[in-house]
Amino acid sequence: QAEEYQRDAHKPAITTDGFQIEIAANIGSVEDAEKAVVAGAEAVGLLRSEFLYMERLNEPTEEEQAEKIGAILEVMGKERPVIIRTLDVGGDKPLPYLPMPHEENPFLGVRGVRIGIERPSILRRQVRAILSQAHKGHARIMYPMISALDELRAVNALVREEQKNLGVEHVEVGIMIEVPSAALMADKLAQEVDFFSIGTNDLTQYVMAIDRGHPGLASRADALHPAVLRMIELTVRAANDAGKWVGVCGGLASQIEAVPVLIGLGIKELSVSVPALPEVKHKVRTVSMEESCKLAQAALDCADTSDVKDLLKSQS
Ligand code: PEP
Ligand code: MG
Repeated sequence: QAEEYQRDAHKPAITTDGFQIEIAANIGSVEDAEKAVVAGAEAVGLLRSEFLYMERLNEPTEEEQAEKIGAILEVMGKERPVIIRTLDVGGDKPLPYLPMPHEENPFLGVRGVRIGIERPSILRRQVRAILSQAHKGHARIMYPMISALDELRAVNALVREEQKNLGVEHVEVGIMIEVPSAALMADKLAQEVDFFSIGTNDLTQYVMAIDRGHPGLASRADALHPAVLRMIELTVRAANDAGKWVGVCGGLASQIEAVPVLIGLGIKELSVSVPALPEVKHKVRTVSMEESCKLAQAALDCADTSDVKDLLKSQS
């Protein structure tokens, strides 16, 4: 079956009633980008830029960062947009060259975009590296862990400043929606970005108040919980009202049975792990938007994760 999916991997993912969904890849390296193209990726929905330098003991220079980003943009080409997420460390992801003070609750501490705001010179170098390579492909910039409008404004101001400094024209910017406050305030945030991408891994962790890596509890942090689905619905509705699009780059997008729920909620881009690309495309081709919308509404009305799972089983 995997061979059958791969055979059609380079065809678009269009529902039986004619709605095309963009199927993108989550990557962390130039090699991933090459594999993603082979597996039929139409875009990169998430480049986890911290993975480019995980093993480094000192901060990569602006030129070193530019080199890898440029290589990835060239592999993907002008036709495939690449969402480059700015450094997302802290919490569960330490960086050897960025020692962080001890925190009681690192997932609620200086993580994601908060590091860039505290230490703007690091963020600035990264943003300059991205902007300097933008001409090589279709680059988009995304900020992780946005929890309030003032954070978004601070980083947007820095990006605009560097755009001016480097003479780069408009680059689309977006934010991860992975903190409940961002989902709740999506209508306001949508005014100042071009797109949203929902990080269901962290969103679930923060909605359910369950550490995503907790040995005993993590299995209860299920992105199919109706509370998480309602957050997604809220986000999409706010974005649509503002004329912006929403993707999902968290693990839920790679869960085949969740695909109709997500597209039924109005998600336009599914960004999935490279091995999942052909099957997710195949799944989209087997469902209709009309049925998916009904399924999504039914899922929103479920009382618990197990009800959502039963609902999805009854469909397949
Ligand atoms: C997420 O939180 O869902 C996400 C995609 O980001 P990461 O897994 O890198 O935290
Ligand atoms: Mg995350």
